[in-house]
Amino acid sequence: MLLTMKVKLYPDQYQHRSLLETMERFNEACNYISNIAWTNHTFGKVAIHKLAYYEIRDKFNLSSQMVVRAVGKVAESYKIDKTCQHGFKKHGAVVYDQRILTFKSTDEISILTLGGRERITIKYGEYRQLNMQRVRGQADLIYHNNIFYLMVVVDVPDADPIDPQGIIGVDMGIVNIATTSDGEVFSGKKCTEVRQRYSNLKAKLQSVGTRSAKRHLKKISGKERRFKKDINHCIAKSIVQTAKDTNRAIAIENLKGIRTNSTVNKTVRTAMGKWAFNELGNFLKYKATLAGIPVFEVDPKNTSRECSMCGHIDKKNRKSQSEFLCVNCGHAENADINASNNISSRGICQLPHRPLSC
Ligand SMILES: [Zn+2]
Repeated sequence: MLLTMKVKLYPDQYQHRSLLETMERFNEACNYISNIAWTNHTFGKVAIHKLAYYEIRDKFNLSSQMVVRAVGKVAESYKIDKTCQHGFKKHGAVVYDQRILTFKSTDEISILTLGGRERITIKYGEYRQLNMQRVRGQADLIYHNNIFYLMVVVDVPDADPIDPQGIIGVDMGIVNIATTSDGEVFSGKKCTEVRQRYSNLKAKLQSVGTRSAKRHLKKISGKERRFKKDINHCIAKSIVQTAKDTNRAIAIENLKGIRTNSTVNKTVRTAMGKWAFNELGNFLKYKATLAGIPVFEVDPKNTSRECSMCGHIDKKNRKSQSEFLCVNCGHAENADINASNNISSRGICQLPHRPLSC
């Protein structure tokens, strides 16, 4: 299983400056390359490389491999959109690979900067049990709130898969962050309170607008994010533990589908974005895979409108946020539990021992 982790760097003052200069130079080079690509209408990696390589090396004094990565970054960007010239932010990501970045131990990297290789201390928190030998491919160096991080892709060995007897459906939402088909509800109440508190505080600080207010604002946005992350971790841990104890697989709604198929209004959608379903879904997948528990993604269409008893789909089935009452068979249930039951039964057909009805 490939997993992206965020690794925090602890450079000394000199190294910090050096990384920052490298980042700025790298992105200047990207802008220069982008201009060459655009004016020559040349967007392929190899073609840009031929056009720009020597010029970039001369002009920006970057190592050969860094030029290769800069060209790669520009080419990747034009792959998505060729209708306008692309610009790169001063502190945009620097792309590293094994030739210019090595993991020396569990707490040290060797990374190429303009001034040569630097050994920098790292910490990767909750993922520290992972073996850095399993780092795959490229890593992005990013800079956020004056801190450097590496986004690293690691190949995590999957545990021996269980032979699931049954499935837990998990519905993710705002009012209830997660509801399982066992009827377990992880309420979002506490999170909503915290979010409200922070959002009031933020509004106040924004209206003040001084430098110290801005600093404070940054700090609390970090706190809010960490709080939410902790909650998602706890929920994922608990659900995966239940699945393990009861020898069942997990079914969730297809994560991509949640955003695009959502019919909720804009305010709710903003809240949903803030709540990052993807984070919970990703934690679930990650923890489950490590435990050998399969996670199935099911079609999210109508999971909240379909009756989990008779299969009747109707907008009117959903009486309110929390109430489900089937207009066909009269089945009444908490709406989130009904949805998680639907998710569970959609997942059942993906099981190795699926029922004949699938
Ligand atoms: Zn029904």
